[in-house]
Amino acid sequence: MTALNKYIQDNLPRFVEELIELLKIPSVSADSSHNADTARCAEAVRQSLLKAGCTHAEICPTPGHPIVYAEKIVDPALPTILTYGHYDVQPPDPLELWTSGPFEPVVKDDKIYARGSCDDKGQVFMHVKALESMLANGGLPCNVKFMIEGEEEVGSNNLGAFLRENKEKLKADIVLVSDTSMISMDTPSIETGLRGLAYMEVEVTGPNRDLHSGVYGGAVGNPITILAKMIASMHDENNHITIPGFYDDVLILSEAERVELNKAPFSLEEYKKDLNIDEVWGEKGYTTLERTGVRPTLELNGIWGGYTGEGAKTVLPSKASAKISMRLVPHQKSGQIAKLFREHFEKIAPPYVKVKVTEHHGGEPVVTPTDGIAYRAAAMAIEESFGKKPVPTRGGGSIPIVALFEEVLGLKTVLMGFGLDSDNIHSPNEHYGVLNFRKGIETIPLFFKNYSQLKSNNPS
Ligand SMILES: [Zn+2]
Repeated sequence: MTALNKYIQDNLPRFVEELIELLKIPSVSADSSHNADTARCAEAVRQSLLKAGCTHAEICPTPGHPIVYAEKIVDPALPTILTYGHYDVQPPDPLELWTSGPFEPVVKDDKIYARGSCDDKGQVFMHVKALESMLANGGLPCNVKFMIEGEEEVGSNNLGAFLRENKEKLKADIVLVSDTSMISMDTPSIETGLRGLAYMEVEVTGPNRDLHSGVYGGAVGNPITILAKMIASMHDENNHITIPGFYDDVLILSEAERVELNKAPFSLEEYKKDLNIDEVWGEKGYTTLERTGVRPTLELNGIWGGYTGEGAKTVLPSKASAKISMRLVPHQKSGQIAKLFREHFEKIAPPYVKVKVTEHHGGEPVVTPTDGIAYRAAAMAIEESFGKKPVPTRGGGSIPIVALFEEVLGLKTVLMGFGLDSDNIHSPNEHYGVLNFRKGIETIPLFFKNYSQLKSNNPS
């Protein structure tokens, strides 16, 4: 065992304890009643970076939640890795489905249970502890900068401006992000693509007030019925999305690329068993891996209207609403898809209702190159620490910031995540394996070493 790995092994219980302290802070970015907690969490992250050995760490205010920036420059002539992550978390609801409090972390069966344990505090903290471990064992082979934001879960609305205003400060050679998952601990993988996002909210209004369903029902359009029909019409019988022009810019994969993608280990039977469903659903002509990785989707995230309380209330409601998100693939553009959605939704609205379409946050899809030295450095690091070559995969989620890094800073990103799809991120009982946490801390220094070596052999 290397001295570095020995250090990580010996200090792992303390690393877990420190992570648990961070997980106790309910930094829910979507809920303004938690603004003080979110600020407190940013400060805790800043302190942890200073303690780990950063020579400079600051809280950068934004119109929303602050960004933590820190750095350790060992030699300006060496390459610089910019580590990105987020300290904010998803709301913990529904609380009754958690077996322990979302902000009362517990370690059970070698897993840390808490909101944010995997997404993304646990993964951010691997980088903090990797820095500490490297500095305690011979130092850094390159420079490192940290940018840990507090608005990833609500769309990173202030990050673009921050990047544009701090181009010099954020100057680096590559961005390293641990906010994704691997196929399994036996089949390590690196995500090479992420889907983009367009997020819409719609409101359908019928009569000017809630009506008595006995007096008016059957004679006035019911906004809930109409909204349900409009939504249902957005997929055809093959589950293709019916918005005109929606697929126009979709990058079509070659047969060879499809074969490669479907080589990733995947059991449909286990997938169904895990979700307790009898059959999967999706766009005709594509496998589940393709449906979640390289094809765009349209999903309902929430729907409401009328009376939903206890008992019966005979009402014909005035309004009905829904939240709808679309996952996008290269080369779809978030703004263009939002526009097509709006035009289509307004067009299919029948004359007995009025509709209002609001656009929430969006993000562009990205594909990260597998032929560059950054990917090679990550693949070698994972092979060294897991004993197996990683499989390149396409992730179904979205990290809009990755496209922004390229656009504003001209930087490519490596998505070296150590979570598992079964970690329940965004769901009750989110957890992160202690082994995943440890493997991450061991692998990050290997990436630093490999990247510095490959970069000095291939200066560009
Ligand atoms: Zn995340």
